[in-house]
Amino acid sequence: MAVEAWTGEGPLVNSGSLDGTPATEGKRRVIELLEARAAGRAHVQFRLRDWIISRQRYWGPPLPIIHCPVHGPVGVPESELPVMLPEVTDFRPLGTGVSPLAQVEEWVNVPCPVCGEPSKRETDVNDNFLDSGWYYMRYPSTDFKDRALDPERTRHWLPVDMYIGGNEHAVLHLMYARFLMRALHGMGYVPTPEPFTRFRAHGLLTFAGGKMSKSKGNVINPDTYMARHGADTLRLYLMFLGPYLEGGEWNDDGMKGQSRFLERVWRCVQLAGADVASDGGDGARERRRHRTIAAVETAILSLHYNTAIAALHELAHGVDEEARAGRARRIDARTLVQLLAPFAPHIAEELWERLGESGSVHRAAWPEHDPALAEEPRVTIAVQLNGRLRATFECEAGTAAAELERLALAQPRVVEVLAGRSPRKVVAVPDRIVNLVV
Ligand SMILES: [Zn+2]
Repeated sequence: MAVEAWTGEGPLVNSGSLDGTPATEGKRRVIELLEARAAGRAHVQFRLRDWIISRQRYWGPPLPIIHCPVHGPVGVPESELPVMLPEVTDFRPLGTGVSPLAQVEEWVNVPCPVCGEPSKRETDVNDNFLDSGWYYMRYPSTDFKDRALDPERTRHWLPVDMYIGGNEHAVLHLMYARFLMRALHGMGYVPTPEPFTRFRAHGLLTFAGGKMSKSKGNVINPDTYMARHGADTLRLYLMFLGPYLEGGEWNDDGMKGQSRFLERVWRCVQLAGADVASDGGDGARERRRHRTIAAVETAILSLHYNTAIAALHELAHGVDEEARAGRARRIDARTLVQLLAPFAPHIAEELWERLGESGSVHRAAWPEHDPALAEEPRVTIAVQLNGRLRATFECEAGTAAAELERLALAQPRVVEVLAGRSPRKVVAVPDRIVNLVV
């Protein structure tokens, strides 16, 4: 038996009147008791570390400070901001602990903004995290330069709905971004203290069982596959090869599968699209269409792109069979193209045009689904034992015989009457009846 450490909450013990109190509540009550006796008080201790934002290298925004022998460090006047990097031929770090900018004399030597005495610019630049920690705040406000953020737009757009990065982002970048957002929130510039509503770390793509790396020689070059199969196939394959958050193993055969899928879509959409008169009321096919829209939508929102693509495979398979038999519906082909558009944008756009639609498929309204229409109708199944009706149960129409048998044998009344015996014979007729012979 595997024994694991208990990581949940436990009750207090050996604590007098607090014995048995859950730990979280217990901590609060211990503090109350101590405060009541003036023996202690609650105190929040932050474990923040210092963040040194200066770097001794070329690439980065120079810190806007001028060192005057009389006035000490003086801020560069706003009218002269931003301080631009000088053009240099060699921007490699010097390895001396001094920024390479220190060598550019005509840039370094400037008069003091206060007294005009010969002074020197600060030659350190910002840590890149200081910039990457807030760029997303600027995105809604890029069309002016006199201030960083427009408060109205910032309030409208922030916080960010979803932040997707590698696992390494979960530590460094995320921490710096949150730090800056909190600071700016404290200063009243942004509406909330947290920059991102959700963070999801994407999975890792592996090949030959390992993380791709040049030294191991197991790197896949996407250009090769794009040239052979096209960008749409590559995109589909990458999204299909595993759950997005878990990643997966690269496999050339999987790529071919997506290529065949797109060939099928290409064929069936054009065949079905030609038959405009075919869009009639058709319960089963309308249900399939609404179900696929619902499935793709749910999958996209939860980042399960592979599930969405699997649903599209199924729809394409059905439409293709119908198209070959000359009974496909144009609306199914149209919906297929729309649902495919986020995954295979190029072929979807081309097919959209071939369907005679105007404008871009990427600007067309996303197809809507009606949950009621997406539901399988339910049927009532009768369970007979030696010719006598013993139970009925409901299930989805079209439920397979094996599943019906399982459901029938699980009916309480049937269990009771069988009293441990196994039926000699079972005949299950989908949507109708299960006959048991004992
Ligand atoms: Zn001065």
